[in-house]
Amino acid sequence: MVAMNAPDRIFPDGPRWRDDGFVRRAGAPLAVVQPPQPVPEAHWVARNEAYARELGWWDWLQRDEALALLAGNAQPAGGTLATVYSGHQFGVWAGQLGDGRALLLGEADTPLGPLELQLKGSGLTPYSRMGDGRAVLRSSIREYLGSEAMHALGIPTTRALALVGSPLPVRRERVETAAVVTRVAPSFLRFGHFEHFAHTAADEAALRRLADDTIERYFPAQAEAANRYAALLEEVARRTARLVAQWQAVGFCHGVMNTDNMSLLGLTIDYGPFGFLDAFDPGHVCNHSDHQGRYAYARQPNVAFWNLHALAQALLPLIVDSDAAVAALEPYKTEFLAALQTAMRAKLGLRDERPEDGTLVDDLLRRMAADGADYTISFRRLARFDSTPGARNDALRDMFLDREAFDAWALRYAERLRAESSLDAERRLRMERSNPKYVLRNHLAETAIRQAETGDFGEVSRLLAVLQHPFDEQPEHEALAGFPPDWARQLEISCSS
Ligand code: AMP
Ligand code: MG
Repeated sequence: MVAMNAPDRIFPDGPRWRDDGFVRRAGAPLAVVQPPQPVPEAHWVARNEAYARELGWWDWLQRDEALALLAGNAQPAGGTLATVYSGHQFGVWAGQLGDGRALLLGEADTPLGPLELQLKGSGLTPYSRMGDGRAVLRSSIREYLGSEAMHALGIPTTRALALVGSPLPVRRERVETAAVVTRVAPSFLRFGHFEHFAHTAADEAALRRLADDTIERYFPAQAEAANRYAALLEEVARRTARLVAQWQAVGFCHGVMNTDNMSLLGLTIDYGPFGFLDAFDPGHVCNHSDHQGRYAYARQPNVAFWNLHALAQALLPLIVDSDAAVAALEPYKTEFLAALQTAMRAKLGLRDERPEDGTLVDDLLRRMAADGADYTISFRRLARFDSTPGARNDALRDMFLDREAFDAWALRYAERLRAESSLDAERRLRMERSNPKYVLRNHLAETAIRQAETGDFGEVSRLLAVLQHPFDEQPEHEALAGFPPDWARQLEISCSS
C-alpha cells in the first residue's frame, strides 16, 4: 500500500490541484478536512480512457500512484474534504445529511476548465450518520456507466473517471464488496448545501457567503442583477427545467430526487436506483424503495419544481422579497415546456413548429403507453419511417398492439412530414442523432455487474465503449439494443447502494 500523504508533486502529468479551489477556499463551515479510509488490495475495475485522454491524465492513470489516490489509499497534499448539506427526502425535511461517503480530492485545472474530483465510497466522514461510508461494486458500476451514458446522450451530468474495486466486505442486504468511484464535475454543490445554512445551521452570514461565492464563481452573469440572489435562483430554475426536459425526452428516471440530490449547476447527480424506461409507462417508478411513487417518471418535472421551491425558501433570507422569489421560479414552467417541445420535435424529426405538433406527440405517447411499446426502440424505429403513401412501416407498426390506431396516427404523421417537405433519408439521419440506439437498461448494467462480481470486468468496459456512442448503429453490439429479456422484469433496484 502506498503511504498516506504522498506529496502530489510526484504526479507530474496527473491532476494539478488549485490551492484556491472553491470548497478548499470556503473551508469551514462548508467543509472539513477528512482523510479517506484505505481499502485492501485496491485494483482497477474500469478506467474511462476517452475522458482521461481529454483531461490529459491517461498516462497518469497507468501508475500505481493514481490507483492509490483514487482508491483513497493516498491523498493530495492539501488533504481531502467532506462538505455538509441538509435536505428534503421524499418530501420530508431530513435535517443534516452531508458527504457521508464522498470526499473531495480537490479542484484541478484541466483542458476542459477547472474540475472537482470526488471519491464516492472512500470511508466514514463526520456526516456518515448510520452509514459505513462505503459504496458497493454493484451500485458503483451503475453510477460509472450511468453518468457516462448520460453525458454521451448530451445530457448535463457529473462524470466518472475511474472505478476502483477492493475485496473489502460491505454489508447490504447481502455481503458485497467495496468500490470507489471517481466523480468529476465543475462543482458538486447541491440545493441541500443552501438548505443547510438556511435551516439546520440557521447561519445567515454563512448562507450569504456561500451564495456570494457561488455567484462569483459559477454564475458571474447573475452578479450584477438588481437582486443577485433572485437572479441566481432563476438561473438554477432554468437549468433545472432544461435538464428535466432532457430526462423526460430520453426516458430517464432519476429515482431519488431529494433536494440533496439536486445539483445547483443543473447536472444529473447521484446515480442510485435510476433507470431508463423499457416499455413506455408514465407512471414507472424505478426505485423499488419509493412505495408512494413520488419520483415516478411523469412526476419528475413537478418534483423538480417542488425542489426549486425548497431552494427558494432557503435563499429567501437573502432575496428578502418573497414576490421576487416566486417570480424567479416562474420561468421554470415555460423553460421546461419549451425545452421538452424542442426535444420531442427533434425526436419526431420535425423542423418547423406547428400548432398541431403537441397533439401529434401526445397521441403517439398515449398509444405507446396503452400498448406498452418500448420507448427507445419505438423512437429509433420511427427514424426509419417511410412517409410514402401506402407504406406500411411494419417494423414500427409491430411495436403496437392496436395496429389500426397506429395506422391512423401514421397517416397524420406522414401528412405532417409532407407539410414541411421532409425528405425521409435526410430526416432519418437527423432523427438518429436524437433517438439513441443504446441506453443503459437495467438488465445491461446487471449483466456487467454479475460478471464483475466474479472478477471479470470486460463487460463494464465493453458497455462503456458502446454507451459512449449511443446514436451510432454499432452492428457488432446489436444485442445490446434489443428488447429487455423476461428476467429484467424481476430486477428490483432499491436505494441500497
Ligand atoms: P443518497 O440516498 O445516496 O443520496 O444519500 C443520502 C445521504 O446518506 C447522504 O448524506 C449520503 O452521504 C448518505 N449515505 C448514503 N449511503 C451511505 C453510506 N453507506 N455511508 C455513509 N453515508 C451514506
Ligand atoms: Mg445523495
